[in-house]
This record gives sequence, structure tokens and C-alpha cells, in this order.
Amino acid sequence: MIVIGWSIEETPLGYAADFCPFCRRIRAFKITQLSQQTHTYFISVHESELELTMNCLSCKFSCGTKTSNYLNLEPQTSALEELIQRTHPDVRSKYKNELALAERVRGETTTSQERIAWLKEPFQLVNHLLPNHCSPLLLIKEGTMYGFCIAIVIGIVTAVVAAPISKNPDITKSLGIVSGFATGMIAVPLCLIWRFRKSRRFIVENVYPLLQIALKGSRPTLDELNAVMQSLQEFDLSIVDYIDTQYLYHLMQQEPKEEQLAAA
Ligand SMILES: [Zn+2]
Repeated sequence: MIVIGWSIEETPLGYAADFCPFCRRIRAFKITQLSQQTHTYFISVHESELELTMNCLSCKFSCGTKTSNYLNLEPQTSALEELIQRTHPDVRSKYKNELALAERVRGETTTSQERIAWLKEPFQLVNHLLPNHCSPLLLIKEGTMYGFCIAIVIGIVTAVVAAPISKNPDITKSLGIVSGFATGMIAVPLCLIWRFRKSRRFIVENVYPLLQIALKGSRPTLDELNAVMQSLQEFDLSIVDYIDTQYLYHLMQQEPKEEQLAAA
């Protein structure tokens, strides 16, 4: 038997300053090299570099990046201004439009058009997080598949255990089928519930916090959030199906004050 497999390895390269589209500020990022390791008989035989990722230390947002964006990478984080000068001295000029808009939103001097665009942006950004984890079709497929697998295993185990007792292949086969079918009737719905709950937990733990951070400076009203979701429906973004604006608004009322988050 040939044992072969792949795994994704993460190699930390250092820290750099960059613009975070969710914090909407310059933040410290951890830069990591992702690579794919091919194993044969548990020994690594080949390594190929995948993408370089940057992970915001404040909000945990992660996306691809390039080493050419930075002057240098620091082995440790330092005060933000120091990190900017050492790793990304031109970051403010690169993102001057985004930073200026962020300041105007915080100072409440934006036009209503700019404000809606500002509110919509984080929903469009988190939309890419959803398909792999939350597509309803994928969830149904996975939940059903897990349920069937459990039913097949239980059916086979029942048949194996029953074989020496019954000594009749037909009875053994029937017992296996009946127990597999009965298990499937219970396991499939339970696996579907488990898969949907897991997906919901992913959204609550990963998507809502990012939206909270991105929207905190603008303090949107519930009506504004509903208007944004309505306008996003025109773009056919799946995020619309997953976000409960009432729940998001409720979370926004509980968030820490602006100064506390800014200092985070
Ligand atoms: Zn961030």
C-alpha cells in the first residue's frame, strides 16, 4: 500500500504594518508563508510555496499579500509608528483615500452616498469567507453524507456482530440493512442539524465580529443596516442570506467604546 498525503504548513516570517480593511486603520500584521507539503510514508518529500498571508493582530482578518509590499519584516511587533517606519513607511500615502474617508466617517462629515458605500464595503469583503463554509447546498450534501456513512458503518458492524449468532446469511443481511436504515433515519437529520449549527457558529464567531469592528466607527442605525442589506441583494451576494441585521445591531450596541478598540 502506498501512503501519500498533503498538508498545509504555516511558516511565520515576521511582522509588518499595513492597512486593515476591517479595522479601517493602519495595523500590525503577522506575515505567514503557506506551503503545501507532500508526504509519503509520513516523510516529507516535496514542498511547494502557496500564498503569503497577512493576519491583522487586532481583528484577526486574514488575506493574501506580497513581500514586495514591505521594506522589511520585523521579528517582533513594536509600537505601531516604529513598525510603520521599519516595514511599510509609505503605507499612509498608499491608503490615503481610505484613511481620509475613515476620518470623515468618524467625524460624521461624509455625504450620504459615501456613508452607504462605507457601510456596504465590509459586507462585500466578508462575502468571500462564506461559500466554503456556509453554502446551504454544501451543508445538506455534507450532513447527508455523514449521516449515510454512520448508517453504513452501523449496518456493517451489526451484520458482523450478528453473523456468528444467527448463522444464517439472510438473517444477518436483513439485520444489517434494518439497523443501517434505522440509524440513517436518526443520523441524517442529526448530522444536518450539527452541520447547520456548525456553520451558524462559524458566522457568529468569525463574520459578525469582523462586521462589528468594521462598522463601529460609523454607528449605523437599524434602518441603515436594513437599507444596506437591501442594496446588497442587487449584487446577488450570499452574505444577505446569512446576516440578521437585528442581531448585528444588537451586537453593535454592546461593543466596547471606540477608544478602547482603537487602543487594542
Ligand atoms: Zn484589523
